[in-house]
Amino acid sequence: MKPTVILNRCADYDAQRIEELVFNGLERLDLNPRGRTLVKPNCVTSGPYFPHAHTRVEFLEGVLRAIERRAPEPLDELAVGERCGITVPTRFAYNGANYYSLRKRIKGLKFYHFEECPQVEVPLYHEGRLRDSFFTPEPVAQADFFVNCPKFKAHPWTTVTFSMKNYIGIQDDRHRLLDHDHRLNEKVSDLQYIVQPQFVVTDGIIAGEGRMLTPTPFDLGLIAMGNNQVAFDSVCCHIIGVDPMSVEHIRLAYENGFGPVDLSEIDIVGDLSLDEAKERGQGFEVGLIRVEDYFKGTKIRAYGGRPPSDGGHDYCWGGCPGALEEAIEIMRLYDQQTDEKLPPMHVVFGEYDKPIQPGPGEKIIFIGDCAKYSGQLGEQLVQLESVYVDRSQKRPLDAEADDIFMKMWSVRRKMAKLKNQDYIRIAGCPVSVAEQTLILIQLGGLKSPYFDPKQVVPFVSAYLSSRTRTAFSRLFGIKYNQPGPMLRGRARPKLNLPPPGIPTPLEIK
Ligand code: SF4
Repeated sequence: MKPTVILNRCADYDAQRIEELVFNGLERLDLNPRGRTLVKPNCVTSGPYFPHAHTRVEFLEGVLRAIERRAPEPLDELAVGERCGITVPTRFAYNGANYYSLRKRIKGLKFYHFEECPQVEVPLYHEGRLRDSFFTPEPVAQADFFVNCPKFKAHPWTTVTFSMKNYIGIQDDRHRLLDHDHRLNEKVSDLQYIVQPQFVVTDGIIAGEGRMLTPTPFDLGLIAMGNNQVAFDSVCCHIIGVDPMSVEHIRLAYENGFGPVDLSEIDIVGDLSLDEAKERGQGFEVGLIRVEDYFKGTKIRAYGGRPPSDGGHDYCWGGCPGALEEAIEIMRLYDQQTDEKLPPMHVVFGEYDKPIQPGPGEKIIFIGDCAKYSGQLGEQLVQLESVYVDRSQKRPLDAEADDIFMKMWSVRRKMAKLKNQDYIRIAGCPVSVAEQTLILIQLGGLKSPYFDPKQVVPFVSAYLSSRTRTAFSRLFGIKYNQPGPMLRGRARPKLNLPPPGIPTPLEIK
């Protein structure tokens, strides 16, 4: 079938109306859910402070009901799966989004928390790939019918987060943060080889503008559906006046043959025309702002130096600088005096070769492995070398990630050192949003979101539950990050066949 995008009006979060629209969409696209059906929402974060960051529960309910109705035979499994962001347990994010309430209304619905699932290796063979394989949770690798159900949002690092960028949540923290740097768009494009959804349906009723974790609500009043991810994201770009070819991950996926960007090659149908949708999307801000500009007028003076030269970028759009922007937005929600409480400081990213002139007592923080500086800092002559490790030296099998309590301890320890010195490097590639949030908390004595009185009990409970289940799984023989022969054999590439003569994983014993 020709790549098709359906645009429908939908003014509010009425689960029944959403179910009708999605059912009709599945019918129109001639799609029949079957076997193990997995729905991947965007639940990067949730709860009272983040009402517009995730796919809403009413929306998800409508989608799940429509899938159940449209399936010609009872499904083997109907499941929701996600790995949320900022290092909190996915259980906490699901709870904050009220997803678990769906169990009462949809019989047998299963929830996967991807950081608790066995991880399966999927080899990659295409030219220009960042690495030779990815790990992805078993439910993703094994889905018979995969539904991508993102939120229609801006993204300050990758311009937009529609369907393709939603794939960053099909990896656990260890693998998600690999290549989450200046080549993030390439990573998002490579992730497309793991699986392509049979169906895409986005929550564009209230879209998220400007930011990814803390977007401002934008009344778009639409649901978009489709059967091809590149076509789908391209149409969504047109709705907000963005050229899809200017969004690197969309362009790369297009060049890799995943679908068309040209509107003449896409059927656009539904009760809302593209022109009407564009009228609705007028003025939508994507929030792609360099860190120096973002912090102008605040006590933070930011310096966006060059990232490592591979990839030919002059700024790291996918890593540390954007994470600081997200971190301060989070802190402003939890502590309204954030900007007043923070001391004047200088934050440096990448290789920076212009003078930095701190005032008396002002601290300098170099963030990220690739930070590099040579020159005076006050009275001192400083020679800070990059400690960046090339991605070819980082194997997915060895990837590790600290949980949030480890991060708290580690950031506290590092920031304590800064009391007695003028500058410090916080290492990592990337230094995540969670870590940069913790840095700001330490520097300004700010209220911690992790111990917010409204959320501390569900947070700790979700954390303990997640850790206990992971420990049990390990105890009973499911080895995480170890692609045992069975798992590896099952994860044969569906989209990216090896060149002749190279065995598929099924043939590797
Ligand atoms: S250390 Fe940070 S700024 Fe440097 S390449 Fe990695 S993610 Fe980008």
